[in-house]
Amino acid sequence: MDPLSDRTRLIAPATQRGQGRRPVNPPIERASTLLSDSVSAMRDPAPGPVYGIEGTASQGALRSALADLERAEEAWLVPSGLSAVTLPLLALTRPGDEVLTTDALYGPVRRFLERHLAARGITTRFHAPDATAGEIGGLIGDRTRVVLIESPASLTFEMVDVPAIAVAARTRGVHTVMDNTWAAGLAFKPVEHGVDVSVQALTKYVGGHSDLMLGSICASDPAVRRALGQAIEDLGLCVSPDDAWLALRGIRTLPLRYGEQGRSALEVARWLAARPEVARVLYPALPGDPGHALWARDYSGAASLFGVVLAGGSDAGAERMLNALTRFGLGYSWGGFESLITHETPQMAWRQARPDLEGPLLRLHIGLEDPADLIADLDQGLAVWRDAVT
Ligand SMILES: *Cc1c(COP(=O)(O)O)cnc(C)c1O
Repeated sequence: MDPLSDRTRLIAPATQRGQGRRPVNPPIERASTLLSDSVSAMRDPAPGPVYGIEGTASQGALRSALADLERAEEAWLVPSGLSAVTLPLLALTRPGDEVLTTDALYGPVRRFLERHLAARGITTRFHAPDATAGEIGGLIGDRTRVVLIESPASLTFEMVDVPAIAVAARTRGVHTVMDNTWAAGLAFKPVEHGVDVSVQALTKYVGGHSDLMLGSICASDPAVRRALGQAIEDLGLCVSPDDAWLALRGIRTLPLRYGEQGRSALEVARWLAARPEVARVLYPALPGDPGHALWARDYSGAASLFGVVLAGGSDAGAERMLNALTRFGLGYSWGGFESLITHETPQMAWRQARPDLEGPLLRLHIGLEDPADLIADLDQGLAVWRDAVT
């Protein structure tokens, strides 16, 4: 057992002794070119990168912080969360292979599978968002090369049994890739639970301030690491030292923001769940949610992101409610300091099998505001929705 908690581990490298006098934070080194003193020194890999695409000080510090956070041997940075999911799929599949994933997959990844990978002879099979590990294992066929896991899933927040799926896949020689954005690398450690590749949108909680786009890919298995490293090299992917520096600033306070926002979200979710205008709150951290047992078993915390199904009414009524809110920004993304709300019913059209929802589907992200103020705002918003229904 490592005696240090994540809160300490995310800060410890900054105060480590033996590095001489220096700023607490690594410098932002903007460079395409790194110079050497001689031709032989130029060929020596030991002093570090020779070309900007390899990254400089801030990218290096962020990569090691993320590898440590995700308990993985290695971490890479890519330009967005979306590219963090698509890169391992490109790296680990060949024409004729199949990807097995949830029907509640993050929409843009589904588009990549159905448009980009399909055109290259790689097909996708979708399982029910609430499938058991046994059911998912039963769908693994001879052509299955990767099981892509998203838990909780997008928009409807179903949980799956990740450790059991990892075992089922590994015994069949199939790779697992998990989108770990909801846990922010903090509340769940996929690699420790047998998953080959854990990816995150750093755009969300790690950045934490809604001011950058970035993704991370973490892995430990040597063959998987080789495939990922080569794909990143071959595609020429790199990220700016400024964005890496901002994400490094964000990651120092990640545990505090994640914990505080999770507590506020639970308070708001409980309040909503008790309202007659609300049919269901979709949030694994809430006792009674279908995914609560798996969440309580495997997760040490919860993101402040959940779904709300209104009890009947129309999409137009839901949109009037959203327009009436004053404390929630109307915008995509999440994990930042600000509360956001979106109407998600239109995005459900992507799915093969659509759940029977009682009314419009909303998604709430709870920020760092006082939850009492957010609840007061939702209270007046629900009054607008009631007027629209009656
Ligand atoms: C936002 C998001 C992504 C994509 O991240 P971007 O940085 O916006 O490309 C991937 N997966 C999940 C679950 C997300 O919410």
